[in-house]
This record gives sequence, structure tokens and C-alpha cells, in this order.
Amino acid sequence: MYKVDIPISKDLKLTLGNICKLAQEVGFDACGVAPVRRLDDDAQFMDNWIAQGLHGEMEYLARNCDKRYDPTALVPGAQTVVVCLLSFEHSGRDYHRKVKSMLYALEAKLKETFGEDIVSATHQHIFCDSAPMLERRWCVEAGLGWIGKNHQLIHPTLGSLVHPGEIVLNKAVIGNRLSGIESQESDIGQQCTDCHLCLDACPTGALRNNVWDARECIAYTTHHCLECQNVCPHNKQLRYE
Ligand code: SF4
Ligand code: SF4
Repeated sequence: MYKVDIPISKDLKLTLGNICKLAQEVGFDACGVAPVRRLDDDAQFMDNWIAQGLHGEMEYLARNCDKRYDPTALVPGAQTVVVCLLSFEHSGRDYHRKVKSMLYALEAKLKETFGEDIVSATHQHIFCDSAPMLERRWCVEAGLGWIGKNHQLIHPTLGSLVHPGEIVLNKAVIGNRLSGIESQESDIGQQCTDCHLCLDACPTGALRNNVWDARECIAYTTHHCLECQNVCPHNKQLRYE
């Protein structure tokens, strides 16, 4: 698991360290937390992206925008987003099922440790590859990495071949996010410096000028292309066909 330089407190307060410890127990490779806020910058970026038609046939992205940009519109009383990552290496083919079952296991531990009211009793609060959550953004908010020129989350040690999952808590967490990694949707690729391997490897030109064009992306038309991730130096320990 990604090392967290935050001591685990012994009095079981709702801290980042204690949440990460429970996430580690259920098998996640990394965990972070972010206080809930409305993602105004992302709303502007996404609205512009959708207005240009770059989302292709993903019509669902043009719906439920309020919920997507503001977790309190999705889960009343939301205060914290817990973000967990599972490496491709540990997820198997049916990653939705695996990540969701791990999130439910983590939720059970959180309730047992911190009380049933830690999550909403009435609204869905567990998400994995779900349209209403800007998952990649919440990964960055939680300090789990940055967004590369391939438009994927890049975790400092796990790279981009990770599956995220989230639990929205109705309680605030004591302490801060994992690290000082800061980037906005408009900062895509800034941490890649002068590397452009993913841009060169993309067979269709879907990645260009800091834009990802879903209409041209094979992963969204045939669901099988990982070229822009396989060439990334941050994924050097893993390669998927
Ligand atoms: S998944 Fe394939 S087609 Fe899509 S952006 Fe990456 S390299 Fe290009
Ligand atoms: S291949 Fe290079 S430019 Fe692309 S995401 Fe990885 S580091 Fe960034």
C-alpha cells in the first residue's frame, strides 16, 4: 500500500490515518480523503468540453451536472469523500464487482468503528465508475496523484493502472489530505513536464492540445486500448494487453 506518513491514532478518532488503516485491511492499495466542496473549476471545464461535443456518445455526462459537481447534491449532508485505489494487478477482470465489494467491506468497518451515522442511511454513498462522481478529480483532491497528458490519474507509485472507488461520509475527517499535490482540471499534464510518450502512442489522435476527444478514443468505442497508459513511465512496472 502507498505509504501514509500520518501516525495511526489509538483513540479511534475519525482521522485520515485510521481510515487508511481500515482501507488497507480490506485490501486497497491506496487511500485518501478530501473535504467536500463544489468543484467549480471542473464544472467550467466539463461544461466547455461537453459544449464542444468532445464527450461523444456519453450523453449521461450532460445529465445530473449539479450532482456531479457538488457531492452534497448527491448525498445530503456529505462532508468527506474517501477515495480508495485498487491496482489493476489486484483487481482481476471484474473490477467493478471487486472494488464495490471492497468498498462495502470498508463501509462496514467504518460504521462499526465510528458509528452508523458516518454515512447516509437514505442515499447511495458508494461509487465505483459511476457517472455522478468526478472520480479522477476526487482522486486529486484526496492527494492521490495528478492528471497526466493521457488524462488519467497518475499515482506517484502505482501509476495510472488503478481503479478508484469512493465512499461519501456525512462526517468531517480530522487532519489533512495526503500530500501537497495540487492541480486543477485545466492543469492537465503539467506534472508530465516535457514527456509526450502517450500523445505519440495514441493511434487515433484522441489526445491533442490538452484535450481528450472521446469520439476518437478506442477505449470508448471498442473498450480495448491502453496504449496511452502502457507507454507511460509511471506504469513501468505494469503493462496490460
Ligand atoms: S485509450 Fe487508446 S485511443 Fe484512447 S486516448 Fe488512450 S491511446 Fe488514444
Ligand atoms: S506518458 Fe508521459 S506525458 Fe503521458 S501521462 Fe505519462 S508522463 Fe505524462
